[in-house]
Amino acid sequence: MNYSPLNPPKTTVKRGRQFLQVPGPTNIPDRVLNAMHRPAMDVYKGFTPAKEEAIHLARQIFQTEQQVAIYASSGHGAWEAALVNVLNPGEKVLIPVAGNFSKNWGVMARAHNIEVEEVEGDWRKPVDPAAVEERLRADTNHEIKAVAMVQVDTATGIWSDVEAVRKAIDAANHPALFLVDVIACLATTDFQVDNWGVDVGVAGSQKGLMGPPGLGLCSVSEKAIDKAMTVDTPRHYFSWKRAFADRSKFRFSGTAPEHAIWGTIEGMRMVLEEGLDQVFARHHRLAEAVRRCVAHWAEGGALEFVGVDPDFRSNAVTSVLVPENFDPDLLLKTADLRYDTVIAQGLGKFEGRTFRIGHMGELNPPMILGALAGIEMAMQTVGLAHKPGGVQAAMDYIAKT
Ligand SMILES: *Cc1c(COP(=O)(O)O)cnc(C)c1O
Repeated sequence: MNYSPLNPPKTTVKRGRQFLQVPGPTNIPDRVLNAMHRPAMDVYKGFTPAKEEAIHLARQIFQTEQQVAIYASSGHGAWEAALVNVLNPGEKVLIPVAGNFSKNWGVMARAHNIEVEEVEGDWRKPVDPAAVEERLRADTNHEIKAVAMVQVDTATGIWSDVEAVRKAIDAANHPALFLVDVIACLATTDFQVDNWGVDVGVAGSQKGLMGPPGLGLCSVSEKAIDKAMTVDTPRHYFSWKRAFADRSKFRFSGTAPEHAIWGTIEGMRMVLEEGLDQVFARHHRLAEAVRRCVAHWAEGGALEFVGVDPDFRSNAVTSVLVPENFDPDLLLKTADLRYDTVIAQGLGKFEGRTFRIGHMGELNPPMILGALAGIEMAMQTVGLAHKPGGVQAAMDYIAKT
């Protein structure tokens, strides 16, 4: 074969970095990878300072002076910890449903015989604080023991206003505990546990915190620990009665996942070195670049944002609706195999109807532009209608800000 620069051989060999823009797990910074490259150590005396540092850093990111619990688990484990410690079987939790994750948190609650009442919502709109307030006002006997919401639903890319829901609970003068899933958005989006009266915040290591998958984290208020001391729901590993027997200190059950903790400590150090406000500003800038790009593509007539209200499109993930007769899997596979760009499929109601671009954690302008270029090329390859030049719109925005 005579190959020339204009007649190159076809190759399937991949070199260079793959652009991973899924909403978790996110890109793991080299500093985090390196922090895990070390031998294991004695888990009692040797590891205690690391466990304490992890909790100290997590408190700052949750913006709380109260307690933090850490588990060797996915976010689902931290979800479960939140439910089984503050709700007895038969007690009621009110869940404003605005997407796949609030729905599934409720499925988990039902598995523990917790009664679930949903405030039905539209998956294209955020949680409606007025609807929560109305339901709580009607609950004059205080049968509802907790309100559980999701700040950013990773399926829809929609942000809901946690502070407004807190105000709704207060306006109804209701004593329910307040549980908030921030797995998708902690360290991308402001979340103030103490100022907003959040009793349990639920997070994971593998999204905005830039750690490896494997840790579930909960912020736990004094009020939540008080309730945990009385709850009968069967539990052991996740029990706060055990873990906070000494109220001021979290006790880990069994061997701590040392490497996941070392990695996540490094990720949290990076977040705090950058500064929370800077972290939120960077996420806003890069997310807005993605939104400019998607809005430009959408002028081609085929694509739409899942979130109908521009003010509630999250800075963590963007979810894009495709035409009914188009299989987004084709786009995902093409982006991955031809352009080394990995984006996410739709979930729940939006399975087969959307693709999702994660933009959280270890990310800068050329990384997100590279991923957007990969997606735009894949749209061209598979013939998905779009107005070309979305990447330029993203560049124009970033260059100006
Ligand atoms: C990722 C995610 C979860 C689930 O976390 P896992 O670690 O996969 O169990 C739950 N809620 C939200 C909002 C998420 O983004």
